[in-house]
Amino acid sequence: QHFDLVKFSEDLIEEMQLISKENQTIVYQHTGSISQVYLDPNLLKNAAINLVSNAIKYSGENTFIEFNTEVDDGEVCITVKDNGIGIPAEDQKNLFEPFFRAHNTGNIPGTGLGLNIVKRYIELMGGKVVCHSAQHQGTSVSLIFKKL
Ligand code: ATP
Ligand code: MG
Repeated sequence: QHFDLVKFSEDLIEEMQLISKENQTIVYQHTGSISQVYLDPNLLKNAAINLVSNAIKYSGENTFIEFNTEVDDGEVCITVKDNGIGIPAEDQKNLFEPFFRAHNTGNIPGTGLGLNIVKRYIELMGGKVVCHSAQHQGTSVSLIFKKL
């Protein structure tokens, strides 16, 4: 079943904006003329909520969170990027392990399961999860699917 990724993203961001911090703005940009994708909207929604929740939780007030989608002939890519606390280099290899939390989370609450769930859901749909992060700078997580 195909669904409209732009509509999906706009609705999701509207919901997530309500639970963001003071003056945290989620900015959406779509690239590509096509927006119909063949993915499970429920699995994708759960994954995307996890990523945006992390971006909200691990970045401060008065910041921007970027939500980008890109659809071309070969790939569908969804990226959530923040300017938050970032992830220490030595912790990045463990991000997807259940219950793993990086050393700089301090008293920010969490169970360390979100990204494990994201990875499982995305891999169920044949995709992969890629994270780029630098401590004190920010984090971006991309969900990448090859189109059939
Ligand atoms: P929860 O299960 O409630 O999502 P969590 O947020 O701690 O708990 P994950 O979402 O799996 O767990 O993330 C694992 C760890 O990766 C986090 O504890 C945090 O250290 C780090 N992390 C994930 N996303 C970000 C981000 N956007 N910025 C900084 N650190 C992050
Ligand atoms: Mg989380």
